[in-house]
Amino acid sequence: HLIVGCGLSGSVIAERIANVWNENALIIEKREHIGGNCYDYVDDQTGIRMNKYGAHLFHTKDEGVWKYVQTFDKWTRWEHRVLSMVDGQFVPVPVNITTVNQVCGENIEDTEEMDAWLSAVQYKGPIENSEDMAVSRVGRVLYEKMFKPYTVKQWNKGPEELDPSVLARIPIRRDFDVRYFSDKYQALPAKGYTHFFERLLDNPRIQVQTGVDFFKYKLEHDLGQFKSIFYTGPIDQYFDGLKLESLEYRSIDFHIERFSDMNYFQPCSVVNYPETNVPFTRIVEYKHFLNQTSKHTVTVKETTNDHGDPYYPIPNKRNMELYECYRQMAVKEEKEKNVHFVGRLANYKYMNMDQAIRNALDLFDRINSKEEMN
Ligand code: UDP
Repeated sequence: HLIVGCGLSGSVIAERIANVWNENALIIEKREHIGGNCYDYVDDQTGIRMNKYGAHLFHTKDEGVWKYVQTFDKWTRWEHRVLSMVDGQFVPVPVNITTVNQVCGENIEDTEEMDAWLSAVQYKGPIENSEDMAVSRVGRVLYEKMFKPYTVKQWNKGPEELDPSVLARIPIRRDFDVRYFSDKYQALPAKGYTHFFERLLDNPRIQVQTGVDFFKYKLEHDLGQFKSIFYTGPIDQYFDGLKLESLEYRSIDFHIERFSDMNYFQPCSVVNYPETNVPFTRIVEYKHFLNQTSKHTVTVKETTNDHGDPYYPIPNKRNMELYECYRQMAVKEEKEKNVHFVGRLANYKYMNMDQAIRNALDLFDRINSKEEMN
């Protein structure tokens, strides 16, 4: 079997092929390392473990996924917290009672008062886009301060152009809960994501070749030799040249700064900067994750662009309609050539890590049951 891409989706598929079927899986990966966007490493100047492509916080309600990830490596509970810099002060995200009190000058003391405040400000009409979604949750004032300008910076599109799912990612808290996620399981791999991938791929039946571009590879090799192919790259790139337009993706630039002899730069791992006059969207300080120790610290500022590596599919009307055309081509490709499209980029969907794992496990199970029937 050939697997294109050594991120979460490709690695889970390879693991299943090797461990369940006892068959060989060759993973080819364009980058020089495994782990896709989860890849992490220890910064040699500060000794701090950091992600190369942005902070990755694992969280899930899915018992099966939680059990699955634990079979390969040890995970340490970690409850993510985020602050947002609004009007010169740090306020909690997702919005909770403290956020409303700080930003709107209220004096709410409990959930009952919060519910009354929310029901007075929440939009109650139909939800057609991310603006409706946010205003239906937090009301217009918080939307304008914390969500609209951040979203414009992040996506270069207004929330009114984006599918409701984008801002549906951010819940609202009716109490003082400061956790970013409410899922039962929230954890980080104790030895880092790269180590977790090494464990996941640890089977002599799995071979990984890094620095190998699939589109070059397929010119030089006979793909007919593989029983099946699992493609995890951008779906439009796979069908490149077949007259359809390209899908849009958002990419991130990471700006690293190191601070010698500084304990912490900011109060928590992630601080969002929604305001338009600040050029970046957020600052990540990796030292906070799993309470790492170092005499120094390092921060990463994020800005976004539309030409770098594709990270986020952009769910607006045009892209979703166009994706539907690609999806139909993918269904045909699967039937005719046994090529499966798996993961965030191949399904053009903003998936969390647990969803990507679930997606890959379910795809494998479907194929497996078909094989068993034959
Ligand atoms: N968002 C926002 N303000 C915030 C945090 C998030 O407007 O303070 C919006 C923004 O559009 C973002 C989306 O909510 O892209 C999802 O946020 P999340 O933290 O899930 O983004 P990710 O970490 O996946 O980049």
